[in-house]
Amino acid sequence: MVIKLTMVRKNIDSAPFANHMNHQPINEPILGYAPGSEERDLIKNELQRQMNEVIEIPCIINGEEIFTGITANQVIPHNHGHVIAKVHLATNKEMEAACIAAVNSQKEWIELGLEGRCAIFEKCADMLAGDWRMKVNAATMLNQSKTVFQAEVDAACELIDFWRFNCHYARGFHDYLQPLVSPPGVENSTEIRPLEGFILSITPFNFTSIAANLPSAPAIVGCTSVWKPSRNSYYSNYILMQLMMEAGLPPGVINFLPGSGAEITEAALSNPDFAGLHFTGSTATFQGLWQEIGLALPKLKSYPRIVGETGGKDFIVAHRDCDHQGLLVALLRGSFEYQGQKCSAASRAYIPRSVWDAISEDLCEEIKKIKMGDALDFTNFMTAVIDGRSYNKITGYIDRAKLSQNSEIIVGGEYSDAVGWFIEPTVIVTTEAKAETMVEEIFGPVLTVYVYEDYEFDEVLQICDESSPYALTGSIFANKEDDIQKAFNHLRFTAGNFYINDKPTGAVVAQQPFGGARASGTNDKAGGPLNLLRWISPRSIKRTIEIPQDWTYPFLDE
Ligand code: NAD
Repeated sequence: MVIKLTMVRKNIDSAPFANHMNHQPINEPILGYAPGSEERDLIKNELQRQMNEVIEIPCIINGEEIFTGITANQVIPHNHGHVIAKVHLATNKEMEAACIAAVNSQKEWIELGLEGRCAIFEKCADMLAGDWRMKVNAATMLNQSKTVFQAEVDAACELIDFWRFNCHYARGFHDYLQPLVSPPGVENSTEIRPLEGFILSITPFNFTSIAANLPSAPAIVGCTSVWKPSRNSYYSNYILMQLMMEAGLPPGVINFLPGSGAEITEAALSNPDFAGLHFTGSTATFQGLWQEIGLALPKLKSYPRIVGETGGKDFIVAHRDCDHQGLLVALLRGSFEYQGQKCSAASRAYIPRSVWDAISEDLCEEIKKIKMGDALDFTNFMTAVIDGRSYNKITGYIDRAKLSQNSEIIVGGEYSDAVGWFIEPTVIVTTEAKAETMVEEIFGPVLTVYVYEDYEFDEVLQICDESSPYALTGSIFANKEDDIQKAFNHLRFTAGNFYINDKPTGAVVAQQPFGGARASGTNDKAGGPLNLLRWISPRSIKRTIEIPQDWTYPFLDE
């Protein structure tokens, strides 16, 4: 039996198989950054260092830095007069070269074998958990205006977890996907091949971890990538590209390409080796990309895999019998941490009248205590939203709510873009269950509450399910099991990540695999085996030991 497994292993990876025990990783512990802690001093020093320089960010193609001379400034959202980087944008020449580099590097990358590839990404995780942690966290705080805690959870812990657990999962399914039966005289096995060709990874601004995970998850199973980072996170993403190269990522496996998403997509789709799209971002962008891929199909070698995690209109439904203080905390943290710029952020709540009467004043009082400002001031719970475009979009919703007959702003509603793009945490109460702020993704610090009569719980579950096209995350707050079960059943397809008595944000790798359906994405659960399986195209191998020497069959006998 042992001998046979070794044979199978040889088929899987042509490079020598290191006998890795595949111990299950643990989630990276979150540092607290409390006053007096070592990590607080370290991050403050690193923030100052990064504030005092303006770096040049090149394209990286086949391991080489390319300074195109066509540059854009990267600024700090909470202090938008401050430039932290000049970014060299890719032209069509770099875009085409990046696709070719990704294709040309794939053979060697496959032949390195799963263990060789995992060794590189596990080294990335160790480097990020160690010396690189403060550099990446500080870059995320400055580039995407995260508080130190939000940066630590995202840029350090979640990405360390993505890298470690993805390697663990990939090793696991290398065994799991082997054929169950090999009759006497036959050896059956499965080679876990990657997709043939390159993956286009188009990444969002809001999570540094997601940005690096999208090109690296397919890479673990042998794919190569063209990585198009968001224009709002070039700086932190570039530092992670540097980290991966220092960890030994071979040239061409991931090619870093700041530039226009539309143009990079056009270049990628005109290369017949385009094998897949790994996308996280808004629903509208993803739908457009899917259509373009459909049109390009006749020119492509393979049917590309399309994986996209997109927008959300995430909810909290409260039952009249629920934990009031727990609900208040979930509403506040779920809606306003990272300025509501999480795909999972609570942005609509259905609250029974008796509960709302009991908590609304306290909720407003607590929200008024929230301090907002520079990410470098650690007493701030909130900072700025990502850019002027986002600021205009969010404040547009607030302004229309101010004019609406059916909606009332009960706290917040003010904003200023003088220094940074700051918007107060805002709560709207509406009598219209399908008001635009109850239905559309706002992606900012705006929560809308629909107050229902205590006896209308069943009706409100129906309204919650039917109101919005999205189905990413949602929570039920209730004390009794029957009420929880009713919501659980009724809201089965309303959220891909469902929370009971908790806020709908903060999914942890290997604990709550993340993703939603309907307009929220393909639900391939980032950070889990399902996502990695999308990047493989197995080859089934039958090896006959006892080779037939006689063409006749017994039934032919007289
Ligand atoms: P976005 O759609 O504006 O941009 C995402 C990426 O797509 C960026 O790199 C952007 O440059 C690129 N892009 C934009 N237009 C393009 C085009 N025409 N062709 C090719 N690429 C194009 O999204 P964003 O503002 O960066 O991120 C916020 C969105 O991401 C929100 O909708 C949020 O809900 C979603 N999101 C979802 C998840 C999830 O797991 N479901 C996680 C994070 C963010």
